[in-house]
Amino acid sequence: MSDTRQHTKFIFVTGGVVSSLGKGIVASSLGALLETRGLRVALSKADPYLNIDPGTMSPTQHGEVFVTEDGAETDLDLGHYERFTHAQLSRANSFTTGQVYDAVLSKERNGDYLGGTVQVVPHVTAQIKENIFRASEGADISIIEIGGTVGDIEGLPFLEAIRQMRYELGQANVLYIHLTLVPYIAAARELKTKPTQHSVKELRSIGIQPDILVCRSESLLPEELKLKIARFCNVAPNQVISAEDVANIYTMPLAFHAQKLDQIVVDALGIWTRKPDLHEWHAIARRIENPKGQVKIAVVGKYTLVADSYKSIEESLLHAGLYNEVTVEIDYIDSADLESPTWDPQQLRPYHGIIVPGGFGNRGVNGKIRAVEFARVEQVPFLGICLGLQVAAIEFCRNVLGKTEAATSLEWDMDAEKPVITLMNEQRALVKKGGTMRLGGYPCQLQAGSKAGAAYQQEQITERHRHRYEFNTIYKEAFEGSGMTFSGISPDGKLMEIMEYDAHPWFVACQFHPELKSKPMKPHPLFRALIQEAKRHKNEKEPSHVA
Ligand code: GLN
Repeated sequence: MSDTRQHTKFIFVTGGVVSSLGKGIVASSLGALLETRGLRVALSKADPYLNIDPGTMSPTQHGEVFVTEDGAETDLDLGHYERFTHAQLSRANSFTTGQVYDAVLSKERNGDYLGGTVQVVPHVTAQIKENIFRASEGADISIIEIGGTVGDIEGLPFLEAIRQMRYELGQANVLYIHLTLVPYIAAARELKTKPTQHSVKELRSIGIQPDILVCRSESLLPEELKLKIARFCNVAPNQVISAEDVANIYTMPLAFHAQKLDQIVVDALGIWTRKPDLHEWHAIARRIENPKGQVKIAVVGKYTLVADSYKSIEESLLHAGLYNEVTVEIDYIDSADLESPTWDPQQLRPYHGIIVPGGFGNRGVNGKIRAVEFARVEQVPFLGICLGLQVAAIEFCRNVLGKTEAATSLEWDMDAEKPVITLMNEQRALVKKGGTMRLGGYPCQLQAGSKAGAAYQQEQITERHRHRYEFNTIYKEAFEGSGMTFSGISPDGKLMEIMEYDAHPWFVACQFHPELKSKPMKPHPLFRALIQEAKRHKNEKEPSHVA
């Protein structure tokens, strides 16, 4: 830890005015730019809520739960950090007020505070700093995003901790970036800087003078507005950076580079680096600008109302689209709608591929089963993910094997005798819900010659999991006998990780979450294959519109 204190420089990203401005994208884009200069970057998220982690929250609260390789259930911004950079993220890179208090209270019970009164300052702030140092080990630059918005009561201890860090580590080792909104007021036909001024005032009132302001707006900020913001907020004009709305987030690193953000940061922190090597980002930008066609994918799930619930799936489809040179239009379809007696399966006809994503509970499961049946029978490229594999197994039991009594999951059918989706013994004994699922990276052996094997071009893979239930292997032979192959199995042979239907061009389901490992420069093999198949399917269906 003393190493980290001596060698690492810290950049804190806070947000003001409103939430959802994209602090995660700012942190990730800056991380990406600093990496192109040869620096080792760590990225972390500090969340002010009281849950120990987002694992127990519905995706409708904070969006999807991102799982790290070491099995931590974390904020979805960690997904952006991994997609934009090569940083190896772990449990240490995501922490919450809940975790901080948990640590402080257990120290108090151990008597570690030696009779002192335990207080927010200095004890909680000291714990926050300890977590920040732990998350930053080995990095040249550690970027820490503070969740929430400046002015929130619950964010105060975090802001106080990062204020102390500049004082303790010195000006050249700590940098503050503040992201605000510059709204366009249609009636006045003007971009307004007042909310930014107020947000910076709020931040300064707690002792933090931001070094760099990133201003989110509908269009690029004109120079005179940058000047005005600089004057009122006490920053240099070139340190007001414009973040205009973009159609594709992977253009942001270059947009920031064009405004010299990375140069300003390394100068402020007194670091000498090589020139940035941006060729990969330029290559991505070229692909973004030159799609050669389009495919439509239906995601049939249950959290379809909240944009961020399936964030990593959306990004993975985008990456696979860039690779296959097509734009991917995604429609989220509420699986509960498919359960209505008036629903017509033909409504899935326009899609070139269907995904049934992960999920919990049985709401909408029958709708998902109908979507799987449509994809299987109509030969539409299909990717089932986690619950999507479980539903595909249930559909197969019901419609192909005719084993109706097995066609269910113990998750919602607690009295089922031999359901096709069941619990392993280790999981049966568990009582606590938080952090107890099968979580993180597990190895999987692929069958040579299978569709999965062809997609990965590898024999052994490691993929990330987040589920409690598994395929019940008493049905393995019956499945195989009817043309469902288990092309990915755990090395001990006990867990069915990938299954694929032989009598179909591309029907693949996996028990893990492939979307957690896709990157724009390295699209995930299963998504890449799905989009390739979707292109093929489209060309067969509509030969005149070659994608
Ligand atoms: N609810 C299922 C389980 O716990 C699937 C979880 C998921 O899709 N992530 O096994």
